[in-house]
Amino acid sequence: MKLLLHICCSPCLCAPLEELKKDGIEIEGFFYNPNIHPLLEFRRRLKSVKVYQESSPMRVHYCEDYGLNEFLNAVEHYDAPQRCGDCYHMRLTATARHARANGFDAFSTALLFSARQKHELLKKAGDEVSRREGLPFYYVDYRHLYPKSHEIAKKRCLYLQSYCGCIFSESERYSPTTKYLYKGELNVSA
Ligand code: SF4
Repeated sequence: MKLLLHICCSPCLCAPLEELKKDGIEIEGFFYNPNIHPLLEFRRRLKSVKVYQESSPMRVHYCEDYGLNEFLNAVEHYDAPQRCGDCYHMRLTATARHARANGFDAFSTALLFSARQKHELLKKAGDEVSRREGLPFYYVDYRHLYPKSHEIAKKRCLYLQSYCGCIFSESERYSPTTKYLYKGELNVSA
């Protein structure tokens, strides 16, 4: 099977990718993440995947444009988990379409390897995109490899991010009292 694997960052790849290869799957990566903000953080994570490639060669298709506007247009709500559902749909739809256009048998995402993602919501989004785009979604649950994968990433000096990606997750990470509501509304206490 030829699989196009959406890649959000390098640390989650280290251990699970070896497992997938053991299953005899032919894997190419797809870096498409308009959800990563701000620009310098986007560049750090992009570069980190390229550094990963140096010691673990694999073909990766890169979308290197910074997609702040694309992300803001794609999310209907600013609150999680709805925001994350929109975000998963945006990235998985692009992955499925790229996979279909380039002769892959299935698509998947390294987000499934992360213990920090909304796993059930992600799986649901993958299944919905699969039905809509007419291409199988390859579901795996490698969350148990998450700690090991990050240990390997640390040893390999790969960049380890401290928040999920979007400007909202950065805010939630560092200012837990900030509360975003819906598009155009910001709850600011006096
Ligand atoms: S928290 Fe993460 S998954 Fe949710 S919208 Fe932000 S970048 Fe996307």
